Amino acid sequence: MQYNILIVEDEADISGLLVNILKEAGFGTIQAYSGTEAKLLLENHIPDLILLDLMLPGMPGEELLWYIREEKQYSMPILILSAKTAVSHKVDLLKNGADDYITKPFEPEEVTARVEASLRRAGKGAIPEQSLTHKKLTLCPQSRKAVMGETELVLTAHEYDILLLLIKNPGKVYSRESLYELVWQGGYYGENNTVNVHVSNIRKKLKEHDPDQEYIKTVYGIGFKLS
Ligand code: CA
Repeated sequence: MQYNILIVEDEADISGLLVNILKEAGFGTIQAYSGTEAKLLLENHIPDLILLDLMLPGMPGEELLWYIREEKQYSMPILILSAKTAVSHKVDLLKNGADDYITKPFEPEEVTARVEASLRRAGKGAIPEQSLTHKKLTLCPQSRKAVMGETELVLTAHEYDILLLLIKNPGKVYSRESLYELVWQGGYYGENNTVNVHVSNIRKKLKEHDPDQEYIKTVYGIGFKLS
């Protein structure tokens, strides 16, 4: 089963980043951009965990925390997400029913680790890692492992991300430009050869362990897809 996490965060960039982090870790997400929107969503959805920003338009996070715990009496873990760092404030929040506190700016690994720890404490048990398999290759996005048969492959971060994109969307042809943008997170692709070089390295590494199969197909004039 997949756990659903409600993200209450008014900054679209941060909210989107959290969605990506949590999706990669195998969680489902729902987004609310204000306290009032979260309140409405909670009428119809009971998430397994809530990530709650404090400085929100309209109803502040502190008030929403009170509403969830006191008025609704919901017991799911609530993790506060905020740049407010005064220790006394953290203590107040924890006393008022928050389970943990993530200080902005955060690292993706910290978010995943704290979310999983809170779910474990809430008795939600271990979360089985979702893996993606194609031919003899298996990718585990959460641990960022790539396994071919029994052998773990050593891939660079960019090689891993390219392979993950392709395996997540079999059938989709990615242009070199779009792969560059998605994997290197923006920046001008221009005339450089970066993507080709990375794809050729991935192919070499895969071929060492599975010489008979092709995993990445070149689509002439367009780019690459899973083969
Ligand atoms: Ca905010």
